[in-house]
Amino acid sequence: MNGPSASPVLLALNDLTAGYRGVPVVRNLDLEVRAGEIVALLGPNGAGKTTTLKTISGLLPRISGTIEVLGETQAATRRMRSKAVVSLARRGLAHVPEERALFYGLSGRAHLRLAARRGDSAAVTDALAPFPALTAILDRPAGLMSGGEQQMLAIARALVARPKLLMIDELSLGLAPIIVEQLLTMVRDIARNTAVGVLLVEQHVDATLAIADRAYVLVRGELSAHGPAAELAADSQRLAQSYLGANPGAPTRYEVRADDPLLTDPAPTEDTP
Ligand code: ATP
Repeated sequence: MNGPSASPVLLALNDLTAGYRGVPVVRNLDLEVRAGEIVALLGPNGAGKTTTLKTISGLLPRISGTIEVLGETQAATRRMRSKAVVSLARRGLAHVPEERALFYGLSGRAHLRLAARRGDSAAVTDALAPFPALTAILDRPAGLMSGGEQQMLAIARALVARPKLLMIDELSLGLAPIIVEQLLTMVRDIARNTAVGVLLVEQHVDATLAIADRAYVLVRGELSAHGPAAELAADSQRLAQSYLGANPGAPTRYEVRADDPLLTDPAPTEDTP
């Protein structure tokens, strides 16, 4: 059976430098997502993960490098172009932003109907298939849903447009770990069942690596590690090192020597009894 590594490339970042008003926040990033694959983008706060997603979806202009989304190379611009953002969404890119961007007074059903393409009558039903719990509360205003239900709604709304590439920014924001694990399992099933490629920004490293195919670790805007998720999960030392942004050649733990000053009793002073 062919795995995601044989599937078409949906997203390719080459030497991407991105940031704000020409000041780089993310530097020289290479990253790829294929159909049916879950790729995790990990890293500490402020590493540049959200900046990367916003640049891919055209909400931020890139500084240099190339971005190929769904077979087209994005034109280099100095400013955000809303037409380009809309065109990318129409071609199959969906972006679930960090704060979910729901309208608290609108029902779940209204969110999904608004996002559906005209004429696609099965879109709402299909988008709800991974989230049976959401179906039961669909007429509730989004503001009265729990955090987990709101996140399900935000993902379902993205699925209504039948995307080929789905980007989710910080799925776990404000959610209990048990809910995060359930949501991650749902995301894994969506990727397996629909062949959508998923780029997932997350802080819950272990739970994310358990469902991802590959992962990239971004630290202070630079790629610190990348590889198959299972390999990164198994090599906790490499992962910890990559999170700290340490020099790969540097010692990973404090070596204690016999003459270590920490082992030597402090020199007696005149006050010592
Ligand atoms: P977090 O998990 O905290 O959201 P992140 O990895 O997603 O972290 P970003 O939100 O991409 O990180 O932020 C990366 C850097 O860019 C941070 O230093 C942040 O202060 C800076 N930054 C974010 N938004 C802006 C902005 N609008 N203007 C200038 N700098 C910004």
